[in-house]
Amino acid sequence: MAAYARHSKAVAESGGMEYLDLSPYEYRTFPLPMRSVGWLGCKYGVQGVGASKVTRYESELLISASWRLSSLTLGTHECEFCREGPVFEGNGEYHYYTQAGDVYSAPMMILHYVEEHGYHPPEAFLKGLADTNTLVWDWRSERLAGLLLDESEDLDMRCEAIVDLANWKDPRALEALVYAARDDELSDVAGDEIGRSLGGFLGVGFAKDIRVDSFPDLVRFGIQQYLMG
Ligand SMILES: [Zn+2]
Repeated sequence: MAAYARHSKAVAESGGMEYLDLSPYEYRTFPLPMRSVGWLGCKYGVQGVGASKVTRYESELLISASWRLSSLTLGTHECEFCREGPVFEGNGEYHYYTQAGDVYSAPMMILHYVEEHGYHPPEAFLKGLADTNTLVWDWRSERLAGLLLDESEDLDMRCEAIVDLANWKDPRALEALVYAARDDELSDVAGDEIGRSLGGFLGVGFAKDIRVDSFPDLVRFGIQQYLMG
């Protein structure tokens, strides 16, 4: 995470990150259009309360789809609904890419809101989580790969592409990540993230020629972290 800290901007202010579910994501700049989910606060309260409870299946789906945090440049945010005991704090957000072509952004706190405060995410969002790990290459991954390969693009955005591209187990994603691993600037600031993304390709048929020992230390460290789960 040190890589991200270098670019960190304390942008999170209390009350400044509350959005209605499914509204267009506008918290920060992101190269793809996304919808907000689970950005809860005092103004709208716990959205989705009164809807049926999240089923065990939906909850497990949400947990397994929330496998990797993006955007750790966010400051920490405190839960506004914890009444007693330690107040839960979160940092970063999850991005969910559905087969249907939607992208959702939720704060890291979404799992806490579901577990502790009866939050019920929108049905359309929960349904879309069922097949997020079998994505086929599309304009979203094309955009992310293009961003990663373009040296004139903003470094923070390129770092986010490193994380999100790992959603596609496709040779083009691998190619862009290998390029990033060999790029001095990217591997300096985000080598561990590159490694974590590359880790997901080890064992995949088209990645059999990948030589882990040819990557910089920080990238190899990230791969190790991935392998240790
Ligand atoms: Zn709470």
